[in-house]
Amino acid sequence: MGFAELKEAVLSPGLCASCGVCELACPQGLISFDGLLPAIAGEAEDAPCGSCRDCFLVCPGKHPETNAAEMRLFGRGRTKEERWFGVMQGVYGGRSTDPETYRRSASGGSATTLLREAARQLALDWVLVMGREPARPWRSAPAICTDFDRLADYAQSTYQLAPYLGALRGVLLDERPLRGAMSGIACQVQGIRKLQGLDSAIGERARERVAFIVEIGCSSSTKPEGTASMITERLGTELSAVHSIHYREGEYPGQIVVRTIHGKRHEIAFWEAVRHFKDNKTHRCLSCGDWMSGLADVSISDGDPNIFQASQGVTGIEKHGRVFVRTERGRQVLEEAVVQGEMECWPIELTGLNLGLERKRNRRAYYEGSGLPLSDGPIAGFREEREVVDDEQFIPDLAPSPERKDS
Ligand SMILES: Cc1cc2nc3c(=O)[nH]c(=O)nc-3n(C[C@H](O)[C@H](O)[C@H](O)COP(=O)(O)OP(=O)(O)OC[C@H]3O[C@@H](n4cnc5c(N)ncnc54)[C@H](O)[C@@H]3O)c2cc1C
Repeated sequence: MGFAELKEAVLSPGLCASCGVCELACPQGLISFDGLLPAIAGEAEDAPCGSCRDCFLVCPGKHPETNAAEMRLFGRGRTKEERWFGVMQGVYGGRSTDPETYRRSASGGSATTLLREAARQLALDWVLVMGREPARPWRSAPAICTDFDRLADYAQSTYQLAPYLGALRGVLLDERPLRGAMSGIACQVQGIRKLQGLDSAIGERARERVAFIVEIGCSSSTKPEGTASMITERLGTELSAVHSIHYREGEYPGQIVVRTIHGKRHEIAFWEAVRHFKDNKTHRCLSCGDWMSGLADVSISDGDPNIFQASQGVTGIEKHGRVFVRTERGRQVLEEAVVQGEMECWPIELTGLNLGLERKRNRRAYYEGSGLPLSDGPIAGFREEREVVDDEQFIPDLAPSPERKDS
């Protein structure tokens, strides 16, 4: 029962996504994270910790339970054609009109703008975003932002795993009815949607208080060791000297920029970092069956379908995002953001899939045929039918070409 069940079904087969929802859901507050994995305080971890199974029931590691959440949100599950994109009302190109948000964002600032707009329009109290550990600024860590003018401080993609949803414990357990919004990648959104479907006191708080979700499309994330080794081995910099790290700074699609406490600025090309991160993934991330959970109010991905190539200097597309509108609330917040002049958005065709998505489909097809433990896909019994190619094929070293800009 309880944590022992989570351990057997999820942790032991390597299916923990480090989303942190178990920490959030535990009625006794017994779960905390030791690095990327949950651990239980007090009793020996194999002993029953109580009479509930909430940590196991909310965990998306093995069972994201996409269909159940879709039935609650949309009244139907997705079709086979909707396998990778999920149920949506429409897809648009989008970007922030605020120059500061646009400049500091990963792909145009739609996510930051929609979080800020949701907070304003729905009179919310907090926004959960991905920030950094204060004492170790190279490590990612969730942050509860209450000054919405500062949301751009948390913009950009953070390509590093960190237990995330436990940070909501304070605002969900607070005696005041504090409502908020959050950003999240697929596993985090699945975790919070499972919690919202749980018949428990914290589940009820999650239903009442998590009012708006902006999802960030995710091909895979990386263990903190991936960032650490990039900094120490490639930059020759001590981790203790790191003052800040940004993963998508400068001209689109942006490069990894590390600043030190000694005032030095180091830059690593995005495509080089992608190659470096490759060896620092978890099994759960690599075998994940979702680019986007499809369970958010709005999901956002890069507008340029191949930022790996764009980061090699091959002339790319102007910085913008693809905004997938799913719920009625998502549509209303986006429309009002456009009316208020905070965002520009325009209809687009979903042609030219995304390199990240293509890699993910390829990997998923490989894992579905491997017999290894896997998380469920969003459609029961659906198998990815395609010829699996070596993952290296998706991230080739492009030879310099005449189109290539000087670096
Ligand atoms: C690990 C990862 C992998 C991705 N892979 C792809 C891909 O293959 N293809 C693709 O098209 N797009 C991918 N994206 C999404 C893309 O990089 C942009 O984040 C997205 O287009 C939103 O851009 P934006 O300018 O609208 O967001 P911004 O305005 O820059 O805001 C981003 C928001 O997301 C939050 N956020 C960032 N990282 C995380 C995180 N790890 N967990 C939770 N919240 C976070 C930030 O705090 C911020 O609030 C990935 C993102 C991540 C984090």
